[in-house]
Amino acid sequence: MNASNPHRAGPHRHEGPVHAMNVDHPRRLVIEAPRSTRIVADIDVLVVGGGPAGVAAALAAARSGARTLCIERHGMLGGVWTAGLLNPLFDTPGKGWLIADLIARLKQAQAWQSWKWTHTFDVETMKLVLEQMMQEAGAQWWYYSYVVDSIVENGRIRGVVVESKSGREAILAKVVIDASGDGDVAARAGASYDLGREGDGLCQPMTLMFEVDGVRAFPIQQNAGELYDALLASHKVRGGPALPFGRAKNVPWIIHTARADTAAVQATHVYRVNALDTRELTAATVEARRQAHELTRLLRGVPGLENIRLIQTAPAIGVREARRIHGHYRLTVEDISTGRFFEDDVTFGNFPLDVHEVNPDEVARSGRIHATRPFGIPYRALLPRDVAGLLVAGRCISGSHEAHASYRVTGTCMGMGQAAGLAASICAAENKLPHQLDGVHLRRSLLDKGAGVLGERTIEQLVGDLHGDKLLWD
Ligand SMILES: Cc1cc2nc3c(=O)[nH]c(=O)nc-3n(C[C@H](O)[C@H](O)[C@H](O)COP(=O)(O)OP(=O)(O)OC[C@H]3O[C@@H](n4cnc5c(N)ncnc54)[C@H](O)[C@@H]3O)c2cc1C
Repeated sequence: MNASNPHRAGPHRHEGPVHAMNVDHPRRLVIEAPRSTRIVADIDVLVVGGGPAGVAAALAAARSGARTLCIERHGMLGGVWTAGLLNPLFDTPGKGWLIADLIARLKQAQAWQSWKWTHTFDVETMKLVLEQMMQEAGAQWWYYSYVVDSIVENGRIRGVVVESKSGREAILAKVVIDASGDGDVAARAGASYDLGREGDGLCQPMTLMFEVDGVRAFPIQQNAGELYDALLASHKVRGGPALPFGRAKNVPWIIHTARADTAAVQATHVYRVNALDTRELTAATVEARRQAHELTRLLRGVPGLENIRLIQTAPAIGVREARRIHGHYRLTVEDISTGRFFEDDVTFGNFPLDVHEVNPDEVARSGRIHATRPFGIPYRALLPRDVAGLLVAGRCISGSHEAHASYRVTGTCMGMGQAAGLAASICAAENKLPHQLDGVHLRRSLLDKGAGVLGERTIEQLVGDLHGDKLLWD
């Protein structure tokens, strides 16, 4: 056995000094001594979060030649797609480049299936395909690693501090992309942000997705209301606590997946939870898991679902909304409802405003789904106002509570990710900071890569090219 192997037999002791700390009991504080943290990587582009936005960002950066590292706290890539057991994949048509590539691979693996106007995928194949794409692109990624701090010098982010089984370590990068969903990196770097709805700060409810089998006899749902009515009828017979939602357009859904006879169920709802508080997250997960078991019992009283079994609840609760980092541009509901374009558009959204009401007592209004026109997402919405060297991608970009209810879907988050990754790689190669990069130039580079950006072609062309999906606003 190698002498440096830490797994050798015999007694062990932590290598290096034990970090000095004092407990200040009266003030309920632990006073930590200044510490030195080992730099374990120094790369071009660092992406925090391996969800739809982060994977796209890492792939775009690595495929464009940047030395790229992605940090992910779970043991899988995909974010809400995989750790959240989410289906279907919304708003992919016309997004091109990496999204088109991902879909082609899922199709080839027979892990892609049409569902209503869109598509569902097989979660296990998604995990595998994302890892294969990252390997092929030459992107590195580390699992089980939590970013706990941002390293900032004179207003510019230089990297992050990561904690994992390997201890506390530092990573430096020329450009950092915050694709953590919650905007952890940007906030710790000092970026200002909004949390929740204007006025009271409440966020959309959380949902723990769960998977059931035995759904073969259940037809594709036409709308959420009919299942709600059937659940209510089942509740009258079977009894139990009240349903966790009212009659709405966006809950509950039985979503047949690409795996035979199984469905993802979008039905649990936990309200008024702050995604930035670990104790609230724990309590929400416990409550949502209780709801998942309870709803399965009630769903067995719905015709066609008599034989369902709960296969699993998602490894992580689904967070719809947390920080929205202040950028050089803030997307508004007017931009979305009028289908505004910008000269620095780097991707687009084509999805309704899907607000899950923030309060259970507002549940009667839940599921306000307004029609929208396709709208552009400008590079400036990915550029934090207060911190240099940083980009944001995914649901934490700059926008209002209601605008976020449209652009947060995963196809659009991937579109933002591929734009941020390409931008970061150009900046790293040209020794620029992201705010020094011309968004119009970036847009042209994205078009060269085959990314779908509005303005150059009509939305019908973009959509028709790829999947012939029905436009949502038809
Ligand atoms: C219940 C629910 C249902 C939804 N339904 C749909 C739907 O049907 N279709 C659709 O397209 N979209 C849907 N959405 C929206 C969509 O899933 C999210 O908005 C989208 O996943 C956001 O992508 P993201 O990459 O920004 O964030 P995420 O998917 O949240 O990914 C962020 C990643 O960062 C990692 N991370 C976070 N913090 C850290 C840290 N400090 N250190 C290291 N890693 C970190 C996380 O583990 C995660 O992998 C739904 C969302 C929810 C919650």
